[in-house]
Amino acid sequence: MKQMKILKPGPVRKIVLVVIVVTACLFVFSEPLTRILLKHVIQYRLSRLAYPFEDGLHAGLCGTGSPMADKKRAGPCIAVVAGKHIYIVDVGDGSTKNITLMGFQTGKIEAVLLTHFHSDHIAGLGEVMLQRWAGGSNHTPVDVIGPSGVETVVDGFNTAYLLDAKYRVAHHGSITVPPSGAGGIARPFQLGPEKDASVVVLEKEGVKITAFKVDHRPVEPAVGYRFDYKGRSLVISGDTVYSESLLKHSKGADLLFHEALSPWMVKMINDQAHISPVPSLKKITADIPGYHASPEDAAKIADQAKVHHLVYYHIIPPLPSPLLYKLFLGNAKELYKGPITMGVDGMLFSLPPDSNEIQMKTRL
Ligand SMILES: [Zn+2]
Ligand SMILES: [Zn+2]
Repeated sequence: MKQMKILKPGPVRKIVLVVIVVTACLFVFSEPLTRILLKHVIQYRLSRLAYPFEDGLHAGLCGTGSPMADKKRAGPCIAVVAGKHIYIVDVGDGSTKNITLMGFQTGKIEAVLLTHFHSDHIAGLGEVMLQRWAGGSNHTPVDVIGPSGVETVVDGFNTAYLLDAKYRVAHHGSITVPPSGAGGIARPFQLGPEKDASVVVLEKEGVKITAFKVDHRPVEPAVGYRFDYKGRSLVISGDTVYSESLLKHSKGADLLFHEALSPWMVKMINDQAHISPVPSLKKITADIPGYHASPEDAAKIADQAKVHHLVYYHIIPPLPSPLLYKLFLGNAKELYKGPITMGVDGMLFSLPPDSNEIQMKTRL
């Protein structure tokens, strides 16, 4: 009797066999596997919500955009950690989610600082106040520091969130969300009449925050902020044209976060505005270059103030690709020879105490 010969599978047949078995297993066990995977994703994400900041000065870009729709950039927002203290400078639309995802503990935010009251800088204030209250079961509202007018803004958000606060207390109980901690308290400061007037708005455990006038006329008051901590410093421009006051208060800073608008790019939008269904676009794009700085203006400030690193944020117009960064910057690299970074949502800059080091990471 003839013996049957058993053929061994070739390499291709082996691969096909493995693919069939794996696919079958995935099909049969897909739900249990997905659950295991989901559990790990949740654990990973929750563990990232408390970034272990070391002593020093840190600045996270929680929003680098402007009022113009940009799917990759939230409205202007910079989260600053100085030692154990967390501050948020401006809270643009969508920035609260970035603050959380980047690992800044919203429940521990000590103050929100507003540069001015244009909608793109305050749109997220209600959400930050809510997250800070509920996230930390705080008993007192968050301080909202700003120039004169901040009272109106905070009153408005407190009113808008009044019913929401009631719902949450009724639902979660007053231990989890103490009723006294909802909302914000306006902390207005006054500035002198000089064009370069400044005032120290907060000084605590080695952290010094100075507000100074910038030029965003017809919007007045408008300020920038300087943070100093353990020999390190960073400056946030707020919205401004080229400003001698900003130059004065940026002297020798480690980091300068400067807004920027490309005039020729905005002009290009203006030229094509008739295609848009928004009739006001023509006028708005004609107006806005008059109260923002160009990338070159920011580079001049960085050069004259001898800052160590220039970071652009509040970028106008939206840039659909990083390939456009070079065009956006124009001659900036000729005017400032130090390092230049185009800010992107999620970037984190860290300045260890009493050193020259500037570390950069991405947290989104
Ligand atoms: Zn503005
Ligand atoms: Zn703005």
